[in-house]
Amino acid sequence: MVDRFGHAADEKPAKPPPPGRPFSATTRQENLDRLAGDTFDLLVIGGGITGAAIARDAAMRGMRTALVEKGDFASGTSGRSSRLIHGGIRYLEYYQFKLVFEACCERRAMRRVAPRLVRPLPFLYPLYRQQKPAPWKLRLGLTLYDALGLFRNVQRHRWLDRSEVGKREPAVAQRGLLGAARFYDAQTDDARLTLTTAKSAHLHGAIIVNHVSAVDLMVGEGRVVGACLVDRLDDREIEARARVVVNATGVWGDKIRAMGETSPEAMLRPTKGAHLVVQREKLCSDHAVVFDSPRDGRHVFLIPWGEFALVGTTDTDFAGDLDNPAANADDVAYLLDAASYAFPNAQIGRPDVISTFAGLRPLAKAPGGTYRISREHIIAESGSGLITILGGKLTTHRLMAEQVVDRVQERVGPDVPPGTERGCRTQETLEGAQTWRSLACTLGGTIEQHLLRTYGSDAVWVLAYAEENPTLAERIVPGLPYLMAEVVYGVHHEMAVTLNDVLMRRTHVIYETRSGGVERARAVARLMASRLEWDASEINRQVSDYTAQVALTQAWRGAHGGPRTKDDDVDRALP
Ligand SMILES: Cc1cc2nc3c(=O)[nH]c(=O)nc-3n(C[C@H](O)[C@H](O)[C@H](O)COP(=O)(O)OP(=O)(O)OC[C@H]3O[C@@H](n4cnc5c(N)ncnc54)[C@H](O)[C@@H]3O)c2cc1C
Repeated sequence: MVDRFGHAADEKPAKPPPPGRPFSATTRQENLDRLAGDTFDLLVIGGGITGAAIARDAAMRGMRTALVEKGDFASGTSGRSSRLIHGGIRYLEYYQFKLVFEACCERRAMRRVAPRLVRPLPFLYPLYRQQKPAPWKLRLGLTLYDALGLFRNVQRHRWLDRSEVGKREPAVAQRGLLGAARFYDAQTDDARLTLTTAKSAHLHGAIIVNHVSAVDLMVGEGRVVGACLVDRLDDREIEARARVVVNATGVWGDKIRAMGETSPEAMLRPTKGAHLVVQREKLCSDHAVVFDSPRDGRHVFLIPWGEFALVGTTDTDFAGDLDNPAANADDVAYLLDAASYAFPNAQIGRPDVISTFAGLRPLAKAPGGTYRISREHIIAESGSGLITILGGKLTTHRLMAEQVVDRVQERVGPDVPPGTERGCRTQETLEGAQTWRSLACTLGGTIEQHLLRTYGSDAVWVLAYAEENPTLAERIVPGLPYLMAEVVYGVHHEMAVTLNDVLMRRTHVIYETRSGGVERARAVARLMASRLEWDASEINRQVSDYTAQVALTQAWRGAHGGPRTKDDDVDRALP
């Protein structure tokens, strides 16, 4: 038996949940009915960071808004990034001053509105004899970077001499080392930032559903008037009507455009970026470190992530299955070569790779047919009125959304009920992304700290589940801080409706254990089954879908320990 907030009788939290409809699996069902019954001002297709931010901005302006996502929130590129909120120092090499300025402003805005989710991260950029750029050039670039951040970043950059670098990051190669520049950017949990943004849109009244695909656009009198949808959990077909439809589907963008027009010219060229997850203590302590690949001189990053570190990324053309990109053996060899070169004493090798993941960059085609090397976004409107947004970065999602919703508002503005029409307010706050200092003092242990970082003030709900039912206080996987209570919280408050949603994005179990946690998949699926009414065959299906995702994280092992990826034969290095 579950109450109206979705809590089972035996696990009701001590305090009542926040007012309003929970962002739950039950609400998802209600939202499906609303999608079929209402006409919206705006229908957003795609629940990555871009679509979620557009839905949030529009709902905050008083528009009747809906969003559909064919997988889970952030199941596309937004859950497979380097997790940085950064000004993009490397774009200075291409004189992209406007792009860097915008990104620095957005970095500041995100730190202000979402301090729990966007945290400062110090970077170290070591320089070596006979390596480009020359130290004076790097320092000039970083002074410009500070200036484009209006000198309001955490700290201005500093130059560390060789011995200071050795003290702070002893694993960094010392031979030929001249010193290092130290500067700040910021770090986020990309999947959680996307989820929090979608949840905020919901709080402002948007109708949000995951696992619903747009399979066709509805066109009336030459204009797009909605989309035909399919619920991927039960094959239900729905027609959703809206005055404006926005295509925020990232690398799938051309597929949606093709639904609205006959053979539109492709606007996208996806490239793949792979990351390795390794144990942090072997390579770095406090800093993210920037270093060059010895193969082609590209920048590679080592980014601390709790007990782990991410090494990435690659940048290769991609023509494989958009739904299942994976690191292949070449990607792993490339990144291990670069890491070995930069951290020679760490002797990092294949056995150190805990897991991998890969995402696809939705690179937009520039006018004239060449592809943009930078991550600038473009907003295009087709003859039938479909608005498509492509490219951009996690960092600039709020600004991108503001620009898209300004356009939408031009089209729906006069018909929005008087008094509800407002300007963009997304710079003010992001609900659920604040830090809670008072709680931070009360909750001292490692698990509590993990819960606080992940859920903010909602950590108390997760703890309440765990306190009232001891089996929910167990860890999902030994050695990682995630609790079984988070599975229940995910279903009732974060619209988690598949095992992949929980183990890949509400938690990162899949990336943080060598086994991907498959040995616990069935226990987690059973717990979800008790809330979502899955039968035995559904549990089996969920476990098998998850096992397939785990196989993708290990696919690079190929003949040495796993299947090769579908794109092994089609990847080639970008010029
Ligand atoms: C390897 C890599 C590292 C990166 N690192 C950074 C970084 O550190 N910092 C940064 O600022 N940026 C980074 N980026 C860029 C950033 O991740 C992307 O720009 C951003 O995530 C794109 O978000 P999106 O919402 O546009 O696309 P996506 O996240 O891909 O979202 C599109 C969504 O549309 C859904 N969809 C597709 N078709 C349909 C349909 N028919 N019906 C319904 N839904 C549909 C998909 O399932 C998907 O979830 C990185 C990118 C890559 C590839």
